[in-house]
Amino acid sequence: MALKFRGVDFIEFDSLLSEDELLVRDNTRKWVEENVIPIIEQCNRDGRFPRELVGPMAELGFFGANLKGYGCAEMSNVEYGLVMQELERGDSGLRSFVSVQSALCMYPIYAFGSDEQKNAWLPAMQKGEKLGCFGLTEPGFGSNPGGMRTRAKKSGKEYVLNGEKMWITSGTIADVAIIWAKVEDEDDKIRGFLVETDRPGFKADDIHGKWSLRASVTSGLSLQDVHVPESNLLPKSGGLKSPLMCLNQARYGIAWGAVGAAMACYDCALQYSLLRKQFRDQPIASHQLVQEKLAWMISEITKAQLLILQVGRLKDAGKVEHQHISMGKRNNVWMALECARMSRDILGANGVADDYPIMRHLMNLESVKTYEGTHDIHTLIIGASVTGVEAF
Ligand SMILES: Cc1cc2nc3c(=O)[nH]c(=O)nc-3n(C[C@H](O)[C@H](O)[C@H](O)COP(=O)(O)OP(=O)(O)OC[C@H]3O[C@@H](n4cnc5c(N)ncnc54)[C@H](O)[C@@H]3O)c2cc1C
Repeated sequence: MALKFRGVDFIEFDSLLSEDELLVRDNTRKWVEENVIPIIEQCNRDGRFPRELVGPMAELGFFGANLKGYGCAEMSNVEYGLVMQELERGDSGLRSFVSVQSALCMYPIYAFGSDEQKNAWLPAMQKGEKLGCFGLTEPGFGSNPGGMRTRAKKSGKEYVLNGEKMWITSGTIADVAIIWAKVEDEDDKIRGFLVETDRPGFKADDIHGKWSLRASVTSGLSLQDVHVPESNLLPKSGGLKSPLMCLNQARYGIAWGAVGAAMACYDCALQYSLLRKQFRDQPIASHQLVQEKLAWMISEITKAQLLILQVGRLKDAGKVEHQHISMGKRNNVWMALECARMSRDILGANGVADDYPIMRHLMNLESVKTYEGTHDIHTLIIGASVTGVEAF
């Protein structure tokens, strides 16, 4: 049963968007419909990242879309968010790839890099000719990255890096890794390094057996006496604040993306409920308990749309705070996961099969709930913001 996505707009949300924003949203939606939807279930089954989509996504300006110059599309933050929404309506893994390339790799080069580093990497990354990964998490340090063990030691005009990174998106397909390490000669201050992945001592291996984000590459990185020239240090990076600034960019995109995944599940469940008949030859949509689920979902999706649009407007006005983004990420991913579970329920047995996108979204969203600050870590960030007391 082929169900075509029809968009989700209960309260004329579109009237809050400009013509340019609607154009970006609709173009991305069409591209996802034509290029992602037809292949994504098979990619998910095979555990394959659809690398053939990198070039087309670059041409559409998805990489570094909200950065200025270097060939980037110079979209507003709301336009960029709408792109993320549509990509994740396709698949969270594909959106993760774009988030990592843009917010976690191009952004730190843009924000903390030298002119030489920016010119060397940003145009090539925008074109998708060079891919990046972001190495912060370690086997022993996830929610608390400040405890990291990876070290950089100055040796003449070079730095020597040693350490392990874990759960790194795009690790084995990246040309460059942004590695966060404590610099021994600087009181263990955390700084970012550009590490070309073909340097001796750098190794990346894929993590197999994931039941989530199967269309995205996730890897472990090992650095054993990796020598990089001192010009590979991101000069303006300094302290844990630097990687957290990158995470803020990515979390913003995730908060939009989650709305896309929720829309996909809700729209599929709604259409299915009108077609599927049980008891007295009536569609299951006629049962009150099914309607309760649909009403819950459309209410929560609508609230999530409004929340992230306001956060995006604040970001475009230069007024956004990290706790605003935490609220968007925490609420919208939770909402999307609940929608995926309810939609799965509405589809009954069909909900567990990949003839429909719901179980894939559900499994993907379990990772999205955990990465970029877990749901509970964002609870603590919001708690610290309103009370002034840190409870980590
Ligand atoms: C598919 C995937 C892709 C990823 N991609 C990347 C990437 O590209 N780069 C990267 O650097 N990382 C990446 N990550 C790692 C991700 O950011 C971490 O998994 C995340 O930060 C959580 O860390 P952890 O898994 O070690 O869990 P832990 O930190 O061990 O947390 C486990 C549980 O304990 C809870 N907890 C921890 N501390 C507290 C506290 N103080 N109070 C209350 N509860 C607490 C957490 O909320 C969670 O429920 C990825 C992860 C996944 C699954």
